[in-house]
Amino acid sequence: MMTWFILGYTRLRNLPFTLRGDSPEKKLRLTLLIAGVSSIVAGVYMALFNFSRDNPAIAALYVFSSLAGIYIGAAAFCNGLKRNLYIITHALLATLILLFLLDNHHVAGKHSEYNYLIALTAGAALVLRLQSPYLSKIFPLICLITYLFFVSTGLIWQNGSFVLNVPQESGFYLVNCIVPITALLMTVFTCSGNYSETDLIKRELSDAIARQQLELYYQPQVDSEKKLIGFEALLRWKHPVKGFISPEVFIPVAEKSGLIIDIGKWVLARTLQQMDEWDREYPIQHLVFSINISPLQLMHRDFTQETLLTLSHYKIRPERLKFEITETTFIYDQPRISRVIQHFSQLGVKWAIDDFGVGYSSLKSLSDFAIDDIKIDKSLIMHIFENDAAAIIVHKTIELSRDMGLNVLAEGVESEECFEHLRSKGCHLFQGYHFARPLPASEAAVWIKKSAGAA
Ligand code: C2E
Ligand code: MG
Ligand code: MG
Repeated sequence: MMTWFILGYTRLRNLPFTLRGDSPEKKLRLTLLIAGVSSIVAGVYMALFNFSRDNPAIAALYVFSSLAGIYIGAAAFCNGLKRNLYIITHALLATLILLFLLDNHHVAGKHSEYNYLIALTAGAALVLRLQSPYLSKIFPLICLITYLFFVSTGLIWQNGSFVLNVPQESGFYLVNCIVPITALLMTVFTCSGNYSETDLIKRELSDAIARQQLELYYQPQVDSEKKLIGFEALLRWKHPVKGFISPEVFIPVAEKSGLIIDIGKWVLARTLQQMDEWDREYPIQHLVFSINISPLQLMHRDFTQETLLTLSHYKIRPERLKFEITETTFIYDQPRISRVIQHFSQLGVKWAIDDFGVGYSSLKSLSDFAIDDIKIDKSLIMHIFENDAAAIIVHKTIELSRDMGLNVLAEGVESEECFEHLRSKGCHLFQGYHFARPLPASEAAVWIKKSAGAA
């Protein structure tokens, strides 16, 4: 008995999940069921009511509306939902209009009947928002206009002609029309869109390139003598209102929304353009520029061709570029990734695995793909003195890279002590705030000038 009770209680508690779920189709079917049952209940009651008052013609109308309710309820369980939606929505509207015009035997309740149109307007706007533009926008508008028409004219069909019942009370339109309609429109507006912070970023980010809000910063990379060997190009978004937005925030949104393809193209072109500008001023042919390439970008069918075109446009030698990819890249179509990496490697472009040690970390990928460098993740480097596990991973990664003939770069070096320690362990490339933060182009040029002077 107890088990039965607990089972029943659990089922009851889970009812909202079972009924609503998170699938739009499930929600749609549930709404149809609600509309069907409401039509049946109201229809049967009104049919009996009118029979008892000797109004058989009106009662027949309500019998018809109950039958429509059965059809709507049944549609919730049948296939061909899309086609049924057109029939159901218009049948509901037509039935309501007919009832408003013909059922005139209870004048006191007349205006409350119009509420059914409000329910139809809100229901259509919210529940059908993923359907065609006609169903999701135009149909609710038709319902709303019909509601306003009836509520303000009170039109009925009586004794063979149309009769108007325009309300005379002052304030009627304000209280019965303007306020509820405004509330309804605002509710639909609030519920129908998606206004999360992520969606806002997505919308604004799509204009960011055109509005020139994106900028590249360049973080120096140095060798064990602290001599400049190159830069990593790092994206910055200067939002006119929110100020600086971190790439940690907007790159994942760009990846999810596909905007990363255009952004990635821009980063590549802008870096090459900058290199070209600096080439004209300084002898920096030995500096290598690292660019972060997201997996989606790499997987894109036009990546190879467009990158080659951009390279040839700026006449930059491929040897002067390094593409940084993360370990996550290897969970995608491996043969394809391997082909792209191979193709660019043969041209001279270097490949680095970024954030090594914190991701998917398949050591096999180091031998399967033509990788040149390993960049040990900053979260490991920054905790090397406090966390034994981090220290072991870093030391073993340095050893592994050397054994495999790969370059190893430590990112996130923030102190001389850390630099010395890593150097003593055999790491020979470094990047971090200890040397320089990511710099705007003008400040990066100062580094270049210094390095050119020293060379
Ligand atoms: P990442 O590629 O691992 O870049 C290194 C990040 O570490 C940069 O953060 C850099 O500012 C930061 N960093 C470098 N040295 C230190 C240090 O000593 N201490 C600390 N605390 N941080 C240090 P940033 O610029 O915020 O970039 C974050 C991530 O955003 C990048 O990580 C990269 O994954 C992504 N990203 C940035 N620009 C691009 C881009 O153009 N394309 C793509 N696909 N991703 C980008
Ligand atoms: Mg990187
Ligand atoms: Mg990194």
